[in-house]
Amino acid sequence: MKNNKELGAWLKNMGLSHPLLIAGPCSAETQEQVLEIAHQLKGTDTTVLRAGIWKPRTRPGNFEGVGEIGLKWLQRAKQETGLLTTTEVANAAHVDLALKHDVDILWVGARTTVSPFMVQEIAEALKGTGKTVLVKNPVNPDLALWLGAVERFYKVGLKNLAAVHRGFSSYEKQTYRNNPEWQIPIDLQNEFPDLPLILDPSHIAGKRDLIFDLCQTALDLNYDGIMVETHHDPDNAWSDAQQQITPAVLKQMTKDLRIPLHETDAIEFKNKLNTLRTKIDVLDHQLVDTLGKRMGIADQIGALKKSNNVAILQTKRWNDILNKMILEGEENKLSEAFILKIYKAIHQESINHQNKVITKK
Ligand code: PEP
Ligand code: MN
Repeated sequence: MKNNKELGAWLKNMGLSHPLLIAGPCSAETQEQVLEIAHQLKGTDTTVLRAGIWKPRTRPGNFEGVGEIGLKWLQRAKQETGLLTTTEVANAAHVDLALKHDVDILWVGARTTVSPFMVQEIAEALKGTGKTVLVKNPVNPDLALWLGAVERFYKVGLKNLAAVHRGFSSYEKQTYRNNPEWQIPIDLQNEFPDLPLILDPSHIAGKRDLIFDLCQTALDLNYDGIMVETHHDPDNAWSDAQQQITPAVLKQMTKDLRIPLHETDAIEFKNKLNTLRTKIDVLDHQLVDTLGKRMGIADQIGALKKSNNVAILQTKRWNDILNKMILEGEENKLSEAFILKIYKAIHQESINHQNKVITKK
C-alpha cells in the first residue's frame, strides 16, 4: 500500500505509513506461532503486529488467552522483526503489564468500550504515559458510548488516539458477524475530524471472503488504516479461525486494493468525489433495507387485518403519517412536495403488499 495522505500527527511521529496496516493473529497461542507470523508479515506492508493476550470471550470455556507470558513473545517478535506491537487491555492490571513489556500501542476492545468504569480505569492507568491507544467501537450501535470512551482518553491528556471500527452486534446474524453500520463511524469522524479511523474488517466479516470488499469501502471512505487478523495456519487458529487470513493472502489483498491517491488537484477532486459517493452508496443501501423492513411490517398488518376482517385503507392513519412526515421533512430540509411524492409511492407499495396478503387464498 502506498503512502498518500497527511497522517494524524501521532502516526507521522511514529514513522508509520498511511494507510496504516496492522496485522497478526486474533490470539497469541505459542511463542513459535507469534514468531512465525511476525516473520511472515515482514514481507508485507504491515507495520504493527497485533495479538490478543487476554481474550474477552462472550461465553466461558473458549480459549481465553495465554496471559502475561504472551507479552514476552511479542517483545521477542519486535526484537527479531522490527515490527511495532499492539495488544488488547481491559483493566489497569493489563495496562501495567503491557507497559512493563514495552507494547507500543494498546487497544481497547468492543466489550470494554461499553463500560465507562473500565474505560476510565484504563485511561487513569495510562495518564502521563503518552501511550498510543486504539479505541474500538462498543459492541452495540451507540455512537455516544464510542465518543465517550475517546473523550475519556483525551481528558487524561492522551493525544495519540485512533478509533477502530469493528462492527456492531445484532440479535439476528445475517451477512456479517457484526454489522458495519457505516453511518456510525462517519458520524464519529464528523465529531472528531482529526482522529484517525481504522477498519477491523475481520470482526465485521466473521469470514474471510468478505474482508476485501470491506477494506475497499473503508479506503474509499478515507479511513486511515486497517487491522486484519492474520495467521500462518488460519484453519487451526485457537480463536476466530474462520475470519483469519494468511500473510500471503494479506499481501495479495493490499496489492489489489485501490487506494485513493492525493497527488494532484484533479486526483484530490476524484478522491473527494469517491468518498462522497461511497457515503451515498452506504445511505442508499440503508434506504432500501429500511423500505424492505417497512414492507415486511405492512405484510404483518395485512395478515392482521385479514384475520379481523378490517379494510386496508385507513384514511385517518394515513393522513396522520403524512402530516408527521411533512413536519419531519421540514426539519431535514426536505420540501413538502418531495415528501408527498415519496410517501404516496411508499403508501401505494404498502397497500399492494397488504392486498397480496389479504387476497391470498
Ligand atoms: C480482537 O480484536 O481480537 C477482539 C477481541 O476484538 P473485539 O473487541 O472487536 O471483539
Ligand atoms: Mn478475534
